[in-house]
Amino acid sequence: MDRKLFAIFGDPVEHSLSPRMHNRAFRELGERACYGRYRLENGELLRQKVLDLGLAGLNITVPHKEHAYAACDFLDPFARKVGSVNTIVVHEGKLSGYNTDAPGFLRVVESFGGVRSVVFLGAGGTARSSAPLLREAGYAVTVLNRSAPRLGPFAEAGFETATYAEFTPRAFDLVVNMSSAGLKDDSLPAPEGLLRELLRGARGALDVIYGRKTPFLRLAESLGIPARDGLAMLLYQGVIAFEIFTEGRHDPAAVEAALRAALAL
Ligand code: NDP
Repeated sequence: MDRKLFAIFGDPVEHSLSPRMHNRAFRELGERACYGRYRLENGELLRQKVLDLGLAGLNITVPHKEHAYAACDFLDPFARKVGSVNTIVVHEGKLSGYNTDAPGFLRVVESFGGVRSVVFLGAGGTARSSAPLLREAGYAVTVLNRSAPRLGPFAEAGFETATYAEFTPRAFDLVVNMSSAGLKDDSLPAPEGLLRELLRGARGALDVIYGRKTPFLRLAESLGIPARDGLAMLLYQGVIAFEIFTEGRHDPAAVEAALRAALAL
């Protein structure tokens, strides 16, 4: 039998760690499959490229998760609810879409222990898919953002929301940088004075950005708060995606161990 082909689609995509993760797990777990990367500039072409390349499955990263959602023939109920797809499997020319970012994020939040209240700094796609899942799991979620427009859907869904300018600071168990502040620049996601108030007494600080120590993580560490970057979230979204790609054939602990080894975690 030929090898099955998988890939990550995004723009940019050259720094993605997904090929390293999935190829390691395919090899260690004896799957005849390989995983590459594809830089897709025009998200409208996603479906056609997937079919032209003969892929068995793919992951999708920035900026194409909404295009991926639109390209699918079938949607997992959670992906349908949040409107964002980061994992697709292909069967007989039909695309089925899933979202593994939010369940991956939930696993990381759970790993902090003793957390009940969580504040998100940022209200983009990752926040949108993660907030309802955290709430279903029993966490109290507050969403703050620098500007008002993206807060609307959260407020409509019943979350406490505010812009940084209008929020009266109080303490939270976990403070999460859900924004891209610090990804390519040296900016904090919110004014420093506000961040200091939010972090006072927090059990942890979490940044969804990985691969660099962001100003947000540096600030949290300087205050003695346990701080983690987004690598564990990358790991867990990958574990769940791998289980979908391989239809649950492998022991989840073995999948996690292979992906951890690929990330040196
Ligand atoms: P979006 O583009 O959908 O949203 C960006 C958000 O960041 C908005 O709320 C925006 O505010 C805010 N923002 C951007 N720049 C700044 C800044 N300089 N200061 C303050 N706020 C800012 O992003 P996504 O939700 O798709 O992604 C967010 C981050 O999550 C990215 O860094 C991405 O790499 C990371 N990510 C990590 C994953 C992992 O596995 N670790 C998985 C998925 C994403 P405004 O509305 O005012 O513009």
